[in-house]
Amino acid sequence: MRLVEFKKHGKIKTCLIENHEIIEINSTMIQSLNISDIDELELLNTYKFDEVEIKAPIIPSKIVCVGLNYKDHANELNMIIPEEPIIFIKPSTAVIGHLNNIIYPKSSTQVDYEAELGIVIGKKVCNVKSEYASEYIGGYTIVNDVTARDKQRKDIQWTRAKSFDTFAPIGPCIETEMDPMNQKISLKLNNKLKQNSNTKNMIFDVYELIELISNIMTLNPGDIISTGTLPGVGPMNIGDIIETTVEDIGILKNFLIYQKN
Ligand code: MG
Repeated sequence: MRLVEFKKHGKIKTCLIENHEIIEINSTMIQSLNISDIDELELLNTYKFDEVEIKAPIIPSKIVCVGLNYKDHANELNMIIPEEPIIFIKPSTAVIGHLNNIIYPKSSTQVDYEAELGIVIGKKVCNVKSEYASEYIGGYTIVNDVTARDKQRKDIQWTRAKSFDTFAPIGPCIETEMDPMNQKISLKLNNKLKQNSNTKNMIFDVYELIELISNIMTLNPGDIISTGTLPGVGPMNIGDIIETTVEDIGILKNFLIYQKN
């Protein structure tokens, strides 16, 4: 199932995408992430895409991001494959959705894109082994781990570089049934291919990441693990159109604009 959230008459509604239509469902996003059969959903109104404003599919309590996690990205950087991943957190206040603007902060001189697969947690999870991790996954989405690279280079901690408002585009939907171990993932900047890999090149796979992270902190339903980026990261400029694709999820499209005040 592909699940989205949209706004109509000021209200957020959870919906299913089927045959290029948006079908409102009578459950919250978290409830829907734990339903495996479409027949268990109560279907309400149907809408066309141009009738609604798609929002980020979920606002997580936290986004746990993984540093270097693609073998081909480690090779590109001439870095040794890490024994355990670096993790950091992006705040939920950075989340934006499909077709929203990323704001270039006035205080930064280099803002980079990072295409990533996001794991969406379906059930609260703490201290789980990788072999049981799939039970806690609600679905998958696309994340652009936008980074103020100048601030990342300058600071010891990455919090500032990763946390500006709008630095966590997520969406366009959550796909609840997908093989996370073999997905083509790519990013186009102004229609030019900049990043291109496959999730099979991950150093730590999605299940190992859930084991590693859930042994540090409890993951709540709706939390997102952003699983690290691919080779080819680079800077964006004002006016750029950024399209991040994961084969079975879709395309997350965003625009880069300058901070006005
Ligand atoms: Mg990243």
